[in-house]
Amino acid sequence: MTYDLPYSLVGKRVWVAGSAGMLGSSLCRRLKEEDCEIFDIPRKSLDLCRQLDVEDWMAEKRPHAIFFAAGTVGGIQANQDRPGEFIYDNAMMAINVINSARLFSVEKLLILGSSCIYPRLAKQPMVEKELLTGSLEPTNESYAIAKIAALKLGQAFRRQYGCDIISAIPANLYGPGDKFHPDDGHVIPGLISRIEEKKLRGGTLVIWGTGKPQRDFLFVDDAADALVFLMKKYSDEAEINIGSGNVCSIAELVEILSEIMDFSGPTRFDLEKPDGMPLKQLDISRLTQLGWSSKKSLLDGLKATYRWYCKEVRN
Ligand code: GDP
Repeated sequence: MTYDLPYSLVGKRVWVAGSAGMLGSSLCRRLKEEDCEIFDIPRKSLDLCRQLDVEDWMAEKRPHAIFFAAGTVGGIQANQDRPGEFIYDNAMMAINVINSARLFSVEKLLILGSSCIYPRLAKQPMVEKELLTGSLEPTNESYAIAKIAALKLGQAFRRQYGCDIISAIPANLYGPGDKFHPDDGHVIPGLISRIEEKKLRGGTLVIWGTGKPQRDFLFVDDAADALVFLMKKYSDEAEINIGSGNVCSIAELVEILSEIMDFSGPTRFDLEKPDGMPLKQLDISRLTQLGWSSKKSLLDGLKATYRWYCKEVRN
C-alpha cells in the first residue's frame, strides 16, 4: 500500500509517545521547527501498558500522527537482569499504541525498532533484509522479540487495513537526556558516569567486556531529525535503517571519552561482563538514497553529551 508523499505535518496534532525518554524529548525539540501541535503525556499520567487507558486517551486527543518512541530500555546489563519487564512492557505498549492508531484512524504512525533486532551473526553492514534470518543475541533477546512483534504488527495492519504505518531501525543512540546510571544504562552514559566517579575518587576504571565490540553510535538529535524526515518522505512496508554509517570499538570510545573528560587514570577490561553482539553496523544505503545523512561527528556528539551531563546531571 502506498500513500501520497510528502506527508505534511503542518497543522497536525502529533503525539510523541515516550516523550520523556532521550529520543522522545529530542523529537519534541525537533518538532518545534514544524508547524504542528505536539502532544506529550508523562508516563505517570498514561500507562501505555493499559489498553483501555490508551484508547480513552486517543479518543480524547485524536492525534493525526504518532511517533512511537516509548519503551522500557536499558543497556546490556539491564536487559540481562530484567528480561521479563523488557518483553512485557515493550510488547504491551507497542500493541496498545499500534492498535489504537488503527481504531482511531491515525493518518500516520512511525514505529521505532532497534539494531539489536538483527540476528547476532547477521552479515555486516546489516541490510534490512537480514531481519529474521538467524538467532538473536541472547543478551537482548527479550527486548528484540518485543520490537520485532511491534514491527510485524505494523506491517500486518498496513497490509490488512491499509494503515500508513512505517518503521525505522536506529543504531545505538546517545546524547542529552540519556540514562546516566553507572550500571543500568548504555555504554556511553555508563562510561561517562563511571569516569566522572574515578576522576573524583580515584581507582581503576572498569570497562565491561573485551573492548572489541563495535557499534554505530548515532547522536540523538540526528536520529530525531531522521525520524521527522521519514515521517514526511517515506511510506512503505519495509523497515528502514537509521545510522551514521560509521562504527567505533568500545576501546576506541573509552579513548575518546578519556580525552574529552581529561581522564588519565588506570583502566581494566572486565571479561566477566558480556560483550553482546561483536559488531552492529547498519547499512544505511536506503536512507542515504532518500536524501538524509547524519550531521554530528562522534567527537562533537560526545562533547555535547558530556556538556549536558555536567550541567544537568552532575551539578
Ligand atoms: P548493546 O550491546 O549494543 O545492546 O549496548 P550497550 O551500550 O549496553 O553495550 C555496548 C558494548 O559496550 C557492550 O560490548 C558492553 O559490554 C560494552 N560496555 C563497556 N562498558 C560498558 C558500560 O559501562 N555499560 C554498558 N552498558 N556497556 C558497556
